[in-house]
Amino acid sequence: MSNRRTFAIISHPDAGKTTLTEKLLLQGGAIHLAGEVKARGAARRARSDWMKIEQQRGISVTSSVMTFQKDGVVFNLLDTPGHEDFSEDTYRTLTAVDSAIMVIDAAKGIEPQTRKLFEVCRMRSVPIITFVNKVDREGRSVFETLDEVADALALDVVPMSWPIGMGGIFQGVMNFADETIARPEGDSREFLSKREPAVDIPEDIAEEIELARAGYPEFDLEAYRHGDLTPVYFGSALKNFGVAELIDAIARYAPPPRPQKSSEGTVEPERPDVTGFIFKVQANMDPQHRDRIAFMRMVSGTFRRGMKLTPSGLGKPIAVHSPILFFAQDREIADTAEAGDIIGIPNHGTLRVGDTLSERNDLRFTGLPNFAPEILRRVVLKDPTKTKQLRKALDDLSEEGVIQVFYPEIGSQWIVGVVGQLQLDVLVSRLEAEYKVEAVLEPSPFDTARWLKGSDAALKSFADFNASNLAKDRDGDPVFMARSSWDVGYQQERNPELTFSATKER
Ligand code: GDP
Repeated sequence: MSNRRTFAIISHPDAGKTTLTEKLLLQGGAIHLAGEVKARGAARRARSDWMKIEQQRGISVTSSVMTFQKDGVVFNLLDTPGHEDFSEDTYRTLTAVDSAIMVIDAAKGIEPQTRKLFEVCRMRSVPIITFVNKVDREGRSVFETLDEVADALALDVVPMSWPIGMGGIFQGVMNFADETIARPEGDSREFLSKREPAVDIPEDIAEEIELARAGYPEFDLEAYRHGDLTPVYFGSALKNFGVAELIDAIARYAPPPRPQKSSEGTVEPERPDVTGFIFKVQANMDPQHRDRIAFMRMVSGTFRRGMKLTPSGLGKPIAVHSPILFFAQDREIADTAEAGDIIGIPNHGTLRVGDTLSERNDLRFTGLPNFAPEILRRVVLKDPTKTKQLRKALDDLSEEGVIQVFYPEIGSQWIVGVVGQLQLDVLVSRLEAEYKVEAVLEPSPFDTARWLKGSDAALKSFADFNASNLAKDRDGDPVFMARSSWDVGYQQERNPELTFSATKER
């Protein structure tokens, strides 16, 4: 069985994702000094002009891939940008993982972004391990937190451990499986914690634990793997407490690389020939060269440097001579990679988000969605002679997945759609920096968009009545531009022969 565990961390800003990432990498031996994740981020961000926005706002727009090993297991951690203005990139990254860690602040519980990201996981039945963070500070009652997860997310919760007090009275975490308590040692900055038999538990907490063990179900691997149940761990990322237990849980329970649906039926990870799909493209990492890195999630086979792979839709193979593996320490040249791994493929715009790559050229993965934009804006040029440049820029940037672009059937003003506000700032700044196009974004009459599917006749009769609400996306597929979600519901009811889809599978 595969020793790969490919996962992401989902959380609301400030819950502790960065801190936890750092500690995971530290324990996995990928970095030697805590604090390096942010420092590296800053160094990386300095590379490109458009990334100035990230610096100004102190956030990271770009996802990256971090690999670490422990006890023979290889962990691929895909970073999801964690600001409230997150983008489609964040969603897409979740299509490339096999499981997720949900980090919750012990004092705050489920917050809006946690919930949004959770919904994306649910859509694909991605199994989730919950980490309740910051138990070194005053938090809410543990029961309250667990019940909130259960109610808000409609998940069964199974506490795998229990904090012995929180904040000032925090004494450690009891592990239910072996009935030991991990107590912080010394000034508790050390990540060594001492395991001791569970004795001397304060009476009120002993009672809590008794209640919990009687009241919550036993852990059920199948239910977890189906995304119906979440095991819950408690700890403190800052104090490196409970992190080793979390890594063990991922190694032990989180699923190995999953099979992927394709035009040829399901592709199993054991299949010998190489297949994979692109879930992210990052352009212009080096402003001197218009090169791009396409991130490919390996679905099957063993990849070797120099191998020829055929992108779906292209028909002819490309040789992948200098693939990159994104280790936390450094970019390293990958000699081999297998199912579950991510490789970066330099290219000049050949590879697009959603593309399949395979050793044979007759395969296409399905089920890699685009997500309906939540913000739509009209793009207005300051200099109308730059229409051609603008079109090129919008096509490029939509290929990259920075924005989605819609070309209305009537009128000449193009519309861009994004999932988060920040993408709009990125768009304007990149138009200027990379394409020398000055544009402003104006409100559009539309609120959301839906991809339309149906017979030609049904589409045509719909178009006859709704031409002013129709557009084409970058692939030429028909899209209904809606003024409100009510509008969507109304049209759906009136046109039962059409489907109005909030996601588009490529
Ligand atoms: P992110 O926005 O989710 O990446 O959160 P960060 O990792 O940047 O953490 C946000 C803040 O919470 C920072 O000030 C961290 O030092 C702090 N923090 C993270 N984990 C813990 C923890 O376990 N205990 C305490 N007390 N603070 C924490």
